[in-house]
Amino acid sequence: MTRVAFIGLGNMGAPMALNLIKGGFSLKVFDLVAESVAQLVAGGASAAKSASDAVIDADVVITMLPASKHVEGVYLGAEGLLTKIPSKALIIDCSTIAADSARKVARAASERGLAMIDAPVSGGTGGAIAGTLTFIVGGEATDLARARPLLEKMGKNIFHAGAAGAGQVAKIANNMLLGIAMAGTAEALALGVANGLDPKVLSEIIAKSSGRNWAIELYNPWPGVMENVPSSKGYAGGFGVDLMLKDLGLAAEAAVSTQSVIALGELARNLFAMHSAQGSGKLDFSSIVNLIKRD
Ligand code: NAD
Repeated sequence: MTRVAFIGLGNMGAPMALNLIKGGFSLKVFDLVAESVAQLVAGGASAAKSASDAVIDADVVITMLPASKHVEGVYLGAEGLLTKIPSKALIIDCSTIAADSARKVARAASERGLAMIDAPVSGGTGGAIAGTLTFIVGGEATDLARARPLLEKMGKNIFHAGAAGAGQVAKIANNMLLGIAMAGTAEALALGVANGLDPKVLSEIIAKSSGRNWAIELYNPWPGVMENVPSSKGYAGGFGVDLMLKDLGLAAEAAVSTQSVIALGELARNLFAMHSAQGSGKLDFSSIVNLIKRD
């Protein structure tokens, strides 16, 4: 049986790991938060004492960590995982990080003879729970072929974007658009409500009209419009404001390095930065509606 080390059991990593267990894989898991490890052990995983302990004997190592610094911190350096992972293992990093960072870690892995792909995901916590994520992969096609049996247990769509780092570039472009779309959706709903409309009725109209988008259809930011989304649970869980802010920052970095125009992406970044500065960094990103709507 394929032995999988899974590191990073947060809002996304925990349900992804559970789907691998349901899919018949043997998992050894680690997170800095002990309760997150305990939750996975209750679901059938075995607990590792550390990230290094998790990867001993692993055939596949999966990481789902917050940002570039965490991924580089875990893999690189004298005590990094690249010095501990068995030589035939495949590394799959599903975190959303800077493309340069992904290339740096993949290069270091390759220098040690280890195969690595970047495989950031789209689809939110709902997609992670349902096993319907979209994987956006950068790396060698042969390594993606090895990863496929695992990715298929966690996701529905698997794209090969190109060489190492390409998955991250595509993911960042997607998330910049998501940040813009969520802020725009919040603005449209706030405008309608301020002018006397029922947010549910307006959402139904937009969902069948030309303003239709993922936020209005599947992740509505207005409280009470949709069940089982963060806006109806006090904006708990989901995709944090600070994670969206990180992704918009990555888009800005990529734009600077290529002199690209991202006027709306920069505006969205500023809106999320303002929202975070007001104390909402840990809330789901759809809470941006609170920055916009009138009380
Ligand atoms: P999260 O903050 O809920 O989880 C991250 C987990 O990593 C935490 O449990 C944390 O304790 C753990 N961690 C941090 N450093 C660690 C280390 N050194 N060793 C072990 N564990 C460590 O974040 P999330 O929402 O699960 O997102 C993870 C990644 O997926 C991010 O890059 C995010 O941008 C991306 N993403 C998130 C969503 C979403 O909807 N939440 C959607 C798509 C992509």
